[in-house]
Amino acid sequence: MKLSVIVPCYNEEGNVQRFYEETVRVLGGDPSRADLLGETELIFVNDGSRDGTLQGLHEIYETSPYAVRVLSFSRNFGKEAALLAGLRASQGDFTAIIDADLQQRPEYILQMLDILEEHPEYDAVACYQEQRKEGAFMSFVKSCFYKVIDSLSDVPIAQAASDFRLLRRCVVDAIVSLPEKCRFSKGIFAWVGFETYLMPYKVEERTVGESKWNFWKLLRYAFSGIMSFSDKPLIISSVLGIVLFAISILLMLVVVIKTLIWGDPVAGFPTLCSLLLLLSGIQLLSVGVLGQYLAKNYTETKDRPVYILKEDLKK
Ligand code: UDP
Ligand code: MG
Repeated sequence: MKLSVIVPCYNEEGNVQRFYEETVRVLGGDPSRADLLGETELIFVNDGSRDGTLQGLHEIYETSPYAVRVLSFSRNFGKEAALLAGLRASQGDFTAIIDADLQQRPEYILQMLDILEEHPEYDAVACYQEQRKEGAFMSFVKSCFYKVIDSLSDVPIAQAASDFRLLRRCVVDAIVSLPEKCRFSKGIFAWVGFETYLMPYKVEERTVGESKWNFWKLLRYAFSGIMSFSDKPLIISSVLGIVLFAISILLMLVVVIKTLIWGDPVAGFPTLCSLLLLLSGIQLLSVGVLGQYLAKNYTETKDRPVYILKEDLKK
């Protein structure tokens, strides 16, 4: 098998058929690669959709003359889980990851394939949006998050790179070999290393269905990403603790000396209040940070699978 195409699908009933047709048309229509489609497997991962997505995928599976695989989860486990299931199933020398909503055009898969075939020094191609389509606020929030995670993380995380990628076999094997349950792909792609070519691409508007992300979901994802790829928040709270400890000793000395010289036991109430609030705030924050890591640890030690497969159709 030359190419595996992984397509995570969650409530995409209006898109799967269109996606399939477009992808087959594009991959089959490249004159320089006449038999590409014959050497391609399409791996659809139905991530517990609640609409007609699964029926749509069954239809594609039954009617398609090409290698189609449909993995179906027992419930919605999230895109990260769908990607992992797809990567585990993929057999191609090259593996593409692409969304089902046609916001990412399949034509780019051919371009990425060209790059990897022409440049043996690269092991992966990651697409990034030159111009982000979302509103100014979302763009700002996302760029802040990437700056924060990049400065905290031990491995540099390519700021704008998306999950729209083409990977060589060695990269897929490396990603699949990581046993962690809390999976943050952007961090995992960076962590496994390998030479990655960054290719600009243009995102299309979503024409059918709606995005599964909102501000709060993204925020949770962002925190989870930071906790998975950095222990610096723990270090930051320890340093804060040490600095505040030093300040409080100094302050204590000042208070003692002032009281000894001038004797003024009651004044300083506002100072006391602010200090109390500041310190308890920082303490709670640090306990929260600690709790997050503990929660991650808890999830990992429970050792539950990242997803449960309900059905695996393969031909
Ligand atoms: N997706 C998924 N599980 C989820 C959420 C999303 O498999 O829980 C899939 C979705 O069907 C789509 C891709 O991930 O193929 C990207 O999702 P979406 O288009 O909502 O994200 P956006 O393009 O808005 O970032
Ligand atoms: Mg989308």
